[in-house]
Amino acid sequence: MNKSIAIRRVRPEARRAIPTDTSKLGFGRIFSDHFFATEFDRQNGWHMTRIEPMRPLQIDAAAICLHYGQEVFEGLKAYRGKDDGIYLFRWQKNAERLRNSCRRLMMETVDEEFFGRAVKTLVLLEQEWIPKDPSCSLYIRPTLIATDPFLGVRPGDEYAFYIIVGPAGAYYPEGFNPVRIWVSSEDVRAVRGGLGEAKTAANYAHSLCAQHKAKSLGYTQVLWLDAIEHKWVEEVGTMNIFFVIDDEVITPPLTGTILPGVTRDSVLAICSRWGLKVTQRPISIDEVIDQASSGKLTEVFGTGTAAVISPVGVLSYKGKELVIGKNETGPLAKRLYHYLTRLQHGEEEDVFGWVERIDHLDIEQLAAWNG
Ligand SMILES: *Cc1c(COP(=O)(O)O)cnc(C)c1O
Repeated sequence: MNKSIAIRRVRPEARRAIPTDTSKLGFGRIFSDHFFATEFDRQNGWHMTRIEPMRPLQIDAAAICLHYGQEVFEGLKAYRGKDDGIYLFRWQKNAERLRNSCRRLMMETVDEEFFGRAVKTLVLLEQEWIPKDPSCSLYIRPTLIATDPFLGVRPGDEYAFYIIVGPAGAYYPEGFNPVRIWVSSEDVRAVRGGLGEAKTAANYAHSLCAQHKAKSLGYTQVLWLDAIEHKWVEEVGTMNIFFVIDDEVITPPLTGTILPGVTRDSVLAICSRWGLKVTQRPISIDEVIDQASSGKLTEVFGTGTAAVISPVGVLSYKGKELVIGKNETGPLAKRLYHYLTRLQHGEEEDVFGWVERIDHLDIEQLAAWNG
């Protein structure tokens, strides 16, 4: 086992250009100069732990992850504050969720200390890549895969854990406007007892068909209903979902089929602290339609690391469009968005203990493993 991080820096002439126009950053296309990687086998535990210049991975064409889908991932961000501080938000929750996803897919995993040290060391090394624009961030994508070359069906014995990072632009380049969502009445995302609560590639591969239908009909994402009764609201594409009915904030409970979002958890805690009535309970699509018609449903919004808060203006269900809150961004969505982004950039008092400032940390010290 060697969890000290050996750092090999990119040659100066091979460095990539850091984009200066943050309006063109978008999401998920640009990556920094280095990545973190470590490898596991039964004999050595995690070893070959390093940060090195970005390059294509080398894995065997027979690697288990490529054939039977043993892959899990995470998504979090590093933020640059107005004070020039570098901030992480609740990264321990991502470490915990990664462990849970690994457990569900029978994969070897990494502990919180190792995960945190890997993220921090890489972010600090790549700190010039964190955009200074307060609506932007550095997106961090930890990924864990089974790598042993074997075509029999069994859990892997060899794994790779790696982390790539890249600047992410404003999610709302044209402003914070509501999105149009298509409710899937046939395709489902996850069934009870399935993979729904794991952050794993299979859930996304599986969602592409319905996502394609939604896009072709002019909607941005799919709202999933439960797989058994096709009745209970679950979540939206890459986000959890919230409803405001009669000033009560409602979100479906975590029953194993939806992804336990860090943003979801944060929004629940913030709303409680603000003195709002917050309820986790099953909510049916029929109730959503009834409450919208009666005017009691005033806001619908999605929550996730990428968009933070995404107001929903239109829901389309079985060919009928339901307009929510006059298709305008509601007051709670606005308030949450501003509060959360300010908190993440170190501009709000951290009353929850969720924010960690890391720019004072020493890279060499972080890289050393004292286990
Ligand atoms: C990652 C993800 C979310 C949001 O989780 P956050 O931790 O808030 O970013 C919601 N739904 C799905 C399917 C996801 O993969």
